[in-house]
Amino acid sequence: MNPLLNVDDALSKILGDMLTLEAETVSLPDAHDRVLAEDIVSPIDLPPFDNSAMDGYAIRYGDSAAASRSNPTRLAVAMDIMAGSAPDGQLEAGAAARIMTGAPIPSGASAVIPVEDTDDDWSKGENSPLPASVSLYRSLRKGENIRRAGENIKVGETIMKAGSDIGPAEVGMIAGIGRPRVEVIRQPKVVILSSGDELVDIYDELSPGKIRDTNGYTLAALARQAGGVPIRLPIAKDSLDSIRALYRRALSISPDLLISTAGVSVGAADLVRVVMDELGEIDFWRINMRPGKPLAYGTIQGVPFFGLPGNPVSTMVTFEVLVRPALAKIAGRSISQRRVKATAADDMRSDGRRTYARVTLTREDERLIARATGIQSSGALMSMVLADGLAIIAEDQEVVRAGSELDVLLLRTVNL
Ligand code: AMP
Ligand code: MG
Repeated sequence: MNPLLNVDDALSKILGDMLTLEAETVSLPDAHDRVLAEDIVSPIDLPPFDNSAMDGYAIRYGDSAAASRSNPTRLAVAMDIMAGSAPDGQLEAGAAARIMTGAPIPSGASAVIPVEDTDDDWSKGENSPLPASVSLYRSLRKGENIRRAGENIKVGETIMKAGSDIGPAEVGMIAGIGRPRVEVIRQPKVVILSSGDELVDIYDELSPGKIRDTNGYTLAALARQAGGVPIRLPIAKDSLDSIRALYRRALSISPDLLISTAGVSVGAADLVRVVMDELGEIDFWRINMRPGKPLAYGTIQGVPFFGLPGNPVSTMVTFEVLVRPALAKIAGRSISQRRVKATAADDMRSDGRRTYARVTLTREDERLIARATGIQSSGALMSMVLADGLAIIAEDQEVVRAGSELDVLLLRTVNL
């Protein structure tokens, strides 16, 4: 028997093999949650013109120098500038322009006094009659309440780099520079394969000896969460013909990644292995991890392939540790796993393989406490429902004592 393969070595081999997909063009609303495939350079200044940060009066700031509440300065109101209008003409010394938030600053003006600091009252709204004059209750600094053209971004500036995630702010910014379409990395098509005579789908009767295919559903959800487009195929029977047909159908979809579960454990019907060997270049790895020791990895007609162990927890844990980073690389996303440090609430045991133990996390007296979720059987999917994270027990460490510190891979957002 070959020695067990180290988890980190397995992962670096996998990451070395994965290629990031090509770009495609999508409309801006569809770009949300995608990965940018181009640098975005602004063709304009933003804001495009000097504008008011307040509802108030634009003035020459020097005209306010002597103004105070007890001794206001009175200016003639010479202009009225609404948002969306383009003022023409110059604001003269001794005059004020009524101006709305976002409206362009007229030339000559060098500050905006908020309406609250004047004797005007806009409680009647924007349609209040334009007063003949306005009293200023305070002095202003040069440029006060003016948002300068280009203060947000300048023409020619690179505002986002290829490879960044497009969140709501990025969508808004790209809209702001007037781009209706954007280049993003294509989303990986992930085909998910289940096989086994014991498996039935969720619509089917649970007759004696049968269980439901849960891996197909968890994997589809995990693939979607990781930015892929999952395609779950019908369950194959434990026969060569059925498994061959399943793999052929999978390949006909032109997937970017194939994930199968079951058929890689010792003692599993060897049929899946036979088909994997027939169609692809597959290594059968024994990884030094628990759960998830047996794993098939390689390519099938050029498509990256993972044959994950069939036990539902092993399926999920091997996905988290090995497939999620691989899928991130294919999708052009940053490969960051969210880890925190936590203190073990109780003694935890391992068999000397690197162990990923399901734990809950709670904040107690400034410390983050990791507590095992109870049953740790690799068949007990409920332990994943309960778990906030996977506590990592290093290789060759057979006991982690209560009170010692552990690395925990987060499985969900928790209130830390
Ligand atoms: P095998 O590798 O076929 O021996 O399967 C290992 C274990 O995983 C068995 O208990 C299977 O019933 C279970 N299993 C395999 N595939 C699935 C699946 N798609 N959903 C849920 N459990 C599965
Ligand atoms: Mg099976």
